Amino acid sequence: MGRTMGFEPTTSGTTSLRSNQLSYVRHQKLIKSFIFILFRYTKYMQVSKRIFQLETETAFAVLAKANKLASKGMDIINLGIGQPDFKTPKNIQEAAIKAIKDGKHGYTPSNGLPELREAVSEKIFYDYGATISPENILITPGGKPVIFISTLILGGQGKEIIYPDPGFPIYRSMIKYSGATPIPLYLNEDDNFEINLDQLKNLITKKTSLIIINNPNNPTGSFMDVKKIDKIINILEEYPNLFILSDEIYSKIIFDNYKMPTLLKYKNLYNRLIVLDGWSKTYCMTGWRLGWSVWPNNLIDFANKFCVNNHSCPTSISQYAGIEAIKGPQDELYKIVNEFQKRKEYLYREINKLSKISCFNPGGAFYAFPNISKTGLSDKEFSDFALEKKGVALVPGTSFGDKAEKYVRISFANSLEKIEEAIKRISTI
Ligand code: PLP
Repeated sequence: MGRTMGFEPTTSGTTSLRSNQLSYVRHQKLIKSFIFILFRYTKYMQVSKRIFQLETETAFAVLAKANKLASKGMDIINLGIGQPDFKTPKNIQEAAIKAIKDGKHGYTPSNGLPELREAVSEKIFYDYGATISPENILITPGGKPVIFISTLILGGQGKEIIYPDPGFPIYRSMIKYSGATPIPLYLNEDDNFEINLDQLKNLITKKTSLIIINNPNNPTGSFMDVKKIDKIINILEEYPNLFILSDEIYSKIIFDNYKMPTLLKYKNLYNRLIVLDGWSKTYCMTGWRLGWSVWPNNLIDFANKFCVNNHSCPTSISQYAGIEAIKGPQDELYKIVNEFQKRKEYLYREINKLSKISCFNPGGAFYAFPNISKTGLSDKEFSDFALEKKGVALVPGTSFGDKAEKYVRISFANSLEKIEEAIKRISTI
């Protein structure tokens, strides 16, 4: 006799048999959940409840899986990871070596070296004509801590934080961790993945403490020009208590001769504007962990306290390299952006020739977000198949938001030849 013993029909026939079986299955599920909760409770008894709110970045998991397959001898083309495939320019490398040799090995001020903050302030003025005091600039180990710090300062129970979806996964993770409610601002293909103004108006409530804007956007590659940004700011001006985090980490990678419409242009926002930028993407310095941000007077001291508590200061060597990156020659950066432009054009043209995959035209960053729904596969099935059977690493759309199951993210931080080969391979899916 099988496990259904005791649930055999008596006289009431198949209906009763089915309902008994269903009740058995439910019973089993309940027991399993109870055991799971008990196990989790005893295993993590001392752990803060908040820690279960933290999510992660699937792109790193895709990279690990791709590397594992590559180590087994599979020919992998990596279009998964969000970092430029170029080396940090030589002059920046040399500035770091010099800093080491000159003995610049100690702690620096927690908000960053004064000469680096001065250099960032000058750069902001040079690039955007905006005057920002070095006192309002914070240097952090990468741009990511700015998301962490701003959500912890402005989040918490009872607050709502609006964030782009699909978007950088750390936004939702950190909002949840802060205790605030994450409110997704859905970006749709029909709107070219730009912010939908009506939706934005509808989402803001009395509880909204912060809105996160990311332009150019990861993962879609969408770019909102100055006209669009003006319209968004017009709406935000109606809510003077609402803080804004403008994530501009891809500010220097913009296509088709458009200019970066930084929010630093809007002086009337300065008492509630945080701008995140950094060296990672612009100067191919992801591993150096160096970011800059601009903070309003009323938050900068809190933000700096987080730095003291968390990491003391960014790496001294990286900061000296950062000064050279900003003040030294910029020709490498222009070459890199040109190369991304070529790849974007190629990818956009060639993907749209495929019968089952279509792609919107990216305006910035180094991502494309093709629609794969006609293949009949979900984003995860498509990515798994692409990696395991075709050797092409991509990131499923739902890694960036629950509704993105029709999409995958392609990072074109790989050579044109590799991109060409990757498209050939996925064209047969
Ligand atoms: N913001 C966005 C939209 C990103 O895509 C990333 C990195 O991928 C970051 C912030 C964090 O950048 P960093 O590596 O400087 O911490």
